[in-house]
Amino acid sequence: MAPSQVKKRATRKGKTSRSKAKKFVYAYAKNAADGHRGLKNLLGGKGANMAEMCRMGFPVPPGFTITTEVCTYYNDHKGGYPAGLAAQVDKAMATIEKRMGRRFGDPENPLLVSVRSGARASMPGMMDTVLNLGLNDKTVKGLAARSNNPRFAWDTYRRFVQMYGDVVLGIRAEEGEELGPFAKLLDAYKKKKGLKQDTDLTEADLRHLVGRFKQIVKKATGKPFPSDPAEQLWGSIAAVFDSWDNERARAYRSLNHIPADWGTAVNVMAMVYGNMGENSATGVAFTRNPATGEKYFYGEYLINAQGEDVVAGYRTPLSIERLAETLPEAYEELDEIQQRLEEHYAEMQDIEFTIEDGRLFMLQCRSGKRTGFAAVRIATDLVREGLITQEEALRRVEPEALNQLLQPVFRLAELKAARTSKRVLTKGLAAGPGAACGQIAFSPERAIAVAERNARIKDSKKKVTTVLVRVETSPEDIKGMQAAEGILTQRGGMTSHAALVGRQMGKVCVVGASELEIDHAKKTLKVGGRTLREGDWLSLDGTTGEVIQGQLETQPSEVIEALFGKGARAKKARTSATFKAYQSLMRWADKVRTMGVRTNADQPDQCATAIAFGAEGIGLTRTEHMFFGEGKIGPVREMILASDTKAREKALAKLLPLQRKDFEGILKAMGTRPVTIRTLDPPLHEFLPHDTASQRELAKELGVKPKEIATKVESLIELNPMLGHRGCRLGISYPEITRTQAQALFEAGCNVAKRTGKKPKIEVMIPLVGTEKELRLQAAVVRDAAAKVFAKKKMKLPYMVGTMIELPRAALTAGEIAREAEFFSFGTNDLTQTAFGISRDDAGKFIPSYVENDIFEADPFTTIDRGGVGRLMRIAVEDGREERPKIKLGICGEHGGEPRSIALCQELGLNYVSCSPYRVPIARLAAAQAALAEEE
Ligand code: PEP
Ligand code: MG
Repeated sequence: MAPSQVKKRATRKGKTSRSKAKKFVYAYAKNAADGHRGLKNLLGGKGANMAEMCRMGFPVPPGFTITTEVCTYYNDHKGGYPAGLAAQVDKAMATIEKRMGRRFGDPENPLLVSVRSGARASMPGMMDTVLNLGLNDKTVKGLAARSNNPRFAWDTYRRFVQMYGDVVLGIRAEEGEELGPFAKLLDAYKKKKGLKQDTDLTEADLRHLVGRFKQIVKKATGKPFPSDPAEQLWGSIAAVFDSWDNERARAYRSLNHIPADWGTAVNVMAMVYGNMGENSATGVAFTRNPATGEKYFYGEYLINAQGEDVVAGYRTPLSIERLAETLPEAYEELDEIQQRLEEHYAEMQDIEFTIEDGRLFMLQCRSGKRTGFAAVRIATDLVREGLITQEEALRRVEPEALNQLLQPVFRLAELKAARTSKRVLTKGLAAGPGAACGQIAFSPERAIAVAERNARIKDSKKKVTTVLVRVETSPEDIKGMQAAEGILTQRGGMTSHAALVGRQMGKVCVVGASELEIDHAKKTLKVGGRTLREGDWLSLDGTTGEVIQGQLETQPSEVIEALFGKGARAKKARTSATFKAYQSLMRWADKVRTMGVRTNADQPDQCATAIAFGAEGIGLTRTEHMFFGEGKIGPVREMILASDTKAREKALAKLLPLQRKDFEGILKAMGTRPVTIRTLDPPLHEFLPHDTASQRELAKELGVKPKEIATKVESLIELNPMLGHRGCRLGISYPEITRTQAQALFEAGCNVAKRTGKKPKIEVMIPLVGTEKELRLQAAVVRDAAAKVFAKKKMKLPYMVGTMIELPRAALTAGEIAREAEFFSFGTNDLTQTAFGISRDDAGKFIPSYVENDIFEADPFTTIDRGGVGRLMRIAVEDGREERPKIKLGICGEHGGEPRSIALCQELGLNYVSCSPYRVPIARLAAAQAALAEEE
């Protein structure tokens, strides 16, 4: 067989003889495999694991894998294949034929195969699969005769035409429609005949449907359905390679940071049939519960079905324990295999299997997707079970997954009230834990539109969340799933698309709530005699599976309760498996990491929270945030509006005790941990009212004319305030501001030291420095203030003066600045803004499209741009250290809590990262992973 004339994209365009010798095809069968688990990059996860299972002697149907390198070649050569591929495929097909004792295209005894994608990283449901290839009007008869089961043969043929028509020939649902033409016809036919399930269709029904499906193909493509098995095979191979670049795969890659040049492998495997009757089945299972992490064999299956039926969620599957009763021998073998696989991989496995007439076949194993709860629990349990080391456990958990452990759950009293007042509409499967509350969105587009509107609204109270409600989700929905707070589906099991993807995204997810009647066209949801519409509020409990009408209040998660709660509930939370696992992981992370983790905090309560999360100091206190606190904005405005130094000093004198009190609160909360306090940074107009009514009110308070205020506000308005009179430039124009802040800080430090007996460690940080001289002038003001306070208080405190590195010039002249600075803290928000020349306040308008179109690999305001900003940081680190070898280096931009940026900080040798309190656990784990990566 050859790809030859089949399709333009399937023609062979390879060139040199060198590439001929290359191995593009890796065959496998029970106890005989060319590949193994170590070849994941070349064979994709599926191909490598299939080979490994064969090596372990498990019953895997024979097949072969076309390497990911062929995908890269295919993409680079506009759908061409390297020379030698066709011959290798022919040879591998012949081997399958021999092993199965059947021939591809043989009308008497036909071999059927599946063609499945399989990239290096699993991308569930994002790429294409075609099953049952090799069927036509002749071979279907052979299949019917050999199996002695004509209904099965025609069911298989019906599935094949439908799937090939959809995946390879592109005959799909129209935009806005839920069902494609095949599924629509099938539904209508079943309705007309009064049939509920596909399994109720008779052989005659299926024959009829195959005929009608072929007419759909003829009408849509102008050509008859391809009956040549070779054409079917090469058409499917091309479709799988093409699917690497479809829109949903691209969206998935960008969400999961999977490089576009990895490519997918193609797996061709002899078909085994789960749809052969009541002794046949197909299923998906996990070696542990993927939602909670508990250790027991967990999964679902369908009798008389093929793989896509389970994942697509058309039928709600049965729980795996039932299999022990219905097909006990196959179950026993499966149970043993799952245990051996988990031990072999030392990792929770997600497996696919088929039982053909009582005989078990393994179709796939891979490390299973899981919630954050399960990730932490499984990793720590595996250490306890002696299967992995603590270091390995640290590597296994995505730092972002910890977020889920910190998210709120519904308030118990509210939940009880909802139950007694019958607001619980129904219960589905609890697929993704947590509490979500939002307005119903019946389409992904609606969820996206609401999220986009939220992004434009500043006032967080006006933002609304959504719950995406679907009959079932498909890979096309992923952007909408990402945009929604929670996901609810009517159909599908714990391994359906919605469950798998929702879980991985960390979304609250309830699936298979089969009592719901969802009408996407009318945008209604009916259940228990009630009708809900788009925009109505719905609450989802992803831990119990309850679907509740209305908005429910939330309460802290178990981990939060354990860390911050009091009383019986907190005590119980502290003994929970989740909290214990969280604590173990954090303890191990702290042992391994070499960078410190600090927090960005401006209030004592934030400090307390951050300390409970494990923060070891403050990396940034934005003093301006304190200015909006009780009683302070008045003197601040007075200071800004002052017409001369004397008037300004008068206003500052009012501010001094208030600032001192704030600083005392923070320093007391932090004890002897280092605290970095930054002097005033933002442009002054930010503190003044801009509308006439508020200006009039302020004028009254200050006893001046409204016109005076308006004129002053106008004079402070700048065209580019972020590049204007801000940062140290303010302190240089008005040294009395820096002096007052420093005085308040050192007085606070002395007071706290006297009161608590603990000397605070103060680090004064000057913002937006671009030259050594700027820093020298400001540092002198600070040091002078410190000396005066210490003399008056008759005590000394350890303190340092340093600067932020947040301008390219500061980075490039860091050697000079380090003469003056005792520490650097990278302000990567401004450094990114100024390195790119992209306003951080306006970036949202176009950065998403830059990322989507691969102009930026990631949003540089989220992940540090290594090539530019990272390079500036490296220069600053090297030059700074050369001038002052012991200079302390940290980061306090938002990137300080983002795992990939933290990895860069480790490479640069920073001493600490600093981030918002709730990201501290994430940063601790990410820093541990970065340290482990460095060791390697
Ligand atoms: C920064 O620029 O990275 C920074 C931390 O300062 P701010 O965000 O306050 O400008
Ligand atoms: Mg800044």
